Amino acid sequence: MKKIHNFSAGPSILPRIAIENTAKAILDFNGIGLSILEISHRSKDFQAVIDEAVALFKEQLGIPEGYQVLFLGGGASLQFCMIPYNLMNKKAAYVDSGVWAKKAIKEAKLFGEVNVIASSADKNYNFYPPITNIPTDVDYLHITTNNTIYGTEIFTDIDSPVPLVADMSSDIFSRPVDVSKYAMIYGGAQKNLGPAGATFVIVREDILGKVDRVLPSMLDYRVHIKEGSMYNTPPCLPIYTIMETLRWIKSLGGVKVLQEMNQKKAKLLYDTMDNSKIFVGTVEKDSRSLMNICFVMREGYQHLEDEFMNFSKANGMSGLKGHRSVGGFRASTYNALPYESVQALVDCMNEFEKSKV
Ligand SMILES: *Cc1c(COP(=O)(O)O)cnc(C)c1O
Repeated sequence: MKKIHNFSAGPSILPRIAIENTAKAILDFNGIGLSILEISHRSKDFQAVIDEAVALFKEQLGIPEGYQVLFLGGGASLQFCMIPYNLMNKKAAYVDSGVWAKKAIKEAKLFGEVNVIASSADKNYNFYPPITNIPTDVDYLHITTNNTIYGTEIFTDIDSPVPLVADMSSDIFSRPVDVSKYAMIYGGAQKNLGPAGATFVIVREDILGKVDRVLPSMLDYRVHIKEGSMYNTPPCLPIYTIMETLRWIKSLGGVKVLQEMNQKKAKLLYDTMDNSKIFVGTVEKDSRSLMNICFVMREGYQHLEDEFMNFSKANGMSGLKGHRSVGGFRASTYNALPYESVQALVDCMNEFEKSKV
């Protein structure tokens, strides 16, 4: 098989070992003679999987007492509505840092007043808007820590006088997080954790039960907590792969080690574009994401975009095409992407540049 370097933004690269062990569990799970696809989610074999996934989640992220970890369906996008449904009485504050943040804002407006306290929309989201003067008369503040499409990221766990809710779909487990600063952290699994189909929710229990409205069972976090993510059939197979990914994270030494690896990978690529005559990054330096690295061709070289895309493909690069709202290229450098893949991309960029300048 030809070596492919997978820079896909999501669903995206997973640790090879997690994929192999998932394949084994599909063929014969735990040596029980059945596939994980064909056993009850209430069987003891599956219960052990979800228990281990939750335990590793808590251990590897250092989640304090008082928080629950859930695995639900519906993607991060369903959380855009579940959050205001469960937490908003009258008003909430949102940071508008990109397309996903904007979608979260749109849903929240269905439930009450939304106060957008910071935005980088007028610069096509090419920086992370500074968060200052958080109002105290809101039910919560919502942020998106990594903007997958624009390649901006906030690395500090901010202090908030109101419950802080964060969409960490694309940077969960990429760095240590002080979970105690957040009331809730959530995301789709398909960027850094597992296949599409599972959504993780970390929620501090004391923020629930404070709204007046009546909640349908499936949209009520308290129901999912009470039932251990098994009010209905959970996404069993994605949860299995998440467990395997978390085992891999643990075996490497945890999120601190991953953070260092991610910093090295990102530095290699950002340094390359900073020193390039034909490539240039699209994001302001202090907002640069470690997970999604966006770049375009400099003025005067833009006609070479398609040619570079084809050249990179011929050299084994996959998933490099930038999102249509930014254009150019986006290299997603999630946890499972090896340094060698970034090196291969950088070699490819340098070789291409040499032939043009
Ligand atoms: C991918 C992504 C989403 C959307 O996730 P779905 O699971 O497809 O709903 C939301 N927020 C961020 C930051 C993302 O990267």
